[in-house]
Amino acid sequence: MTVIPQIENALIAGQDIIFLGERGQAKSRIMRQLINLLDERVPVIKGCEINDNPFTPICRRCRDLIAQNGENTEIDWLERGQRFGEKLATPDVTMGDLIGDVDPIRVAEGRYLSDELTIHYGLIPRTNRGIFAINELPDLAEKIQVALFNVMEERDMQIKGFPVRLPLDVMIVASANPEDYTSRGRIITPLKDRFDAQIKTHYPKDRSIEIEIMEQEARHLPLNGLKSIVPLFIKEILAEMTLQARNSPDISQHSGVSCRATIRSYEAILGSALRRCLELGEKKVVPRITDIEATFPSIAGKLELEYGGKDRKEGEVVEELARRATKVIFDEQFKADELSSIINSFNNGIGAVVSQSIPSAEYLDGLKNIPGLKDAVKSLVNVECHAEAASAIEFILEGLHLSNKLNKESLNGKFVYK
Ligand SMILES: [Zn+2]
Repeated sequence: MTVIPQIENALIAGQDIIFLGERGQAKSRIMRQLINLLDERVPVIKGCEINDNPFTPICRRCRDLIAQNGENTEIDWLERGQRFGEKLATPDVTMGDLIGDVDPIRVAEGRYLSDELTIHYGLIPRTNRGIFAINELPDLAEKIQVALFNVMEERDMQIKGFPVRLPLDVMIVASANPEDYTSRGRIITPLKDRFDAQIKTHYPKDRSIEIEIMEQEARHLPLNGLKSIVPLFIKEILAEMTLQARNSPDISQHSGVSCRATIRSYEAILGSALRRCLELGEKKVVPRITDIEATFPSIAGKLELEYGGKDRKEGEVVEELARRATKVIFDEQFKADELSSIINSFNNGIGAVVSQSIPSAEYLDGLKNIPGLKDAVKSLVNVECHAEAASAIEFILEGLHLSNKLNKESLNGKFVYK
């Protein structure tokens, strides 16, 4: 972990930060969380558009107010949550959006263009005394980047050609994909130099951290009194699919594979298990291997396939990720020869049918009829829970199939191992 110490150093040094990283590395989340380091509330002059400090107002309106009313000037309190501004940079973001513009209504009321009171402030001045975050900075038009540079460097704004001296107190943080940053080079050099700290973010290095993020971020399904139990191997397979995707030559690594792929697939597999419970009247929501295909739509949209190489369809790529991930987790759990009694049963003619929609209780025959299966299931889950046992049986059978020990055929939405 290098990210947190680097952020701490930059903050202590009072530096503006740019975060470089592929998508889904929590760059926006980190930027938003910086407000938790601010004072809980600060006083501002009541009605000020740019949160003027009562002791050192910078806008014309407030300077006039203080001159007139002195200590009787009304104040307000600004909570830390209100001191954060954010903008996703797109090419059509205007100067008016970010910095400010001349307000035509105020001009029509008879004010001169050069009068500071005709300004309609943009997002950055409105975040004065707070933190302003720009996501995907390279997508900002160059002209706007120049204006941004002026705000950061000179604390000056130019609005419609009129220089307005406005010594804003704003921390600017930005994010960019390193690929855009280097190859497209669309952050203008002076602005690039102006960010005092460049901090590279990264994906979780361990599967266990990927799992923690998945559990923390997933939206919880309303289970209406049903209980959900997700066996560890299911969580590991989902996380491993994302890890495999991040190393796959079929997938563009420039834009990366977001942690959102893992989070959304976790939600999708729970959804699939819940649907089974509702359809079959079961009480325990336990995802199985046959539910994994329910995660494919959640994952597919988060991958960009590499073009030019092998001509493969998205669906095939995702299916292969699932197979590879299942095999990796299975191999960590079992040596195929530990399961030789199970393999022998199949060699002697036993078969097993699995599917998303088969009731858990129907899997239990296998525990009686196949020697060694019960012990293998016990090593994974609570064998007394039918739904958990069904899930573990599917995992063991699929693992043995992927190890070339069992054949598998698909038949009318069901799978037959033999
Ligand atoms: Zn003011």
